[in-house]
Amino acid sequence: MADTLFSLAEGIRRCTACPLYKNRTLAVPGEGGVGARLMLIGEAPGAQEDRVGLPFVGRSGKFLDLMLQKIGLLRNEVFVTGACKCRPLDNRMPMHKELVMCRELWLNKQIELVSARVVVLLGGAALWSVLGEKDVKKWHGRVVVRDARMYFVTYHPAAGMRFPAIRKIMERDFEKLKKMV
Ligand code: SF4
Repeated sequence: MADTLFSLAEGIRRCTACPLYKNRTLAVPGEGGVGARLMLIGEAPGAQEDRVGLPFVGRSGKFLDLMLQKIGLLRNEVFVTGACKCRPLDNRMPMHKELVMCRELWLNKQIELVSARVVVLLGGAALWSVLGEKDVKKWHGRVVVRDARMYFVTYHPAAGMRFPAIRKIMERDFEKLKKMV
């Protein structure tokens, strides 16, 4: 049977393919629908996301909503997910092998199914997982076309929220993004 976003989400909630499943409360498949104008990929669930099973519900979620508002979009018009679907303990960065497993099993299929006009990579984990690049400082604000799909790189909202200089950079990046959507 062909995958749907719903069947992928069900699979993610049951997934035990990497050790991250052991400490999760709830996996976080993502939120949004097929054909969303933008798909945004963050890092991994934090404590609040892990409790409710939804992406970007904490303070960085509010910051992300603000950035989206600046380009005239609401959360329900985009698809939001993470490079990893289960919370790493103590909010550590997901390991490369965890990112690879989650990408191969779930993220690549979500990207294909959502089929957004632009896929936004928020921060280093998403950048490495999807494009195999490490340096957000070098890649932010740039469009990368890979397999006929447009990717746009910027910082993670948690960094924008914490550091005023990164917030300014993100505002400029989102201005560029606005022209693309
Ligand atoms: S992080 Fe991804 S691969 Fe690992 S258990 Fe969760 S859903 Fe499965």
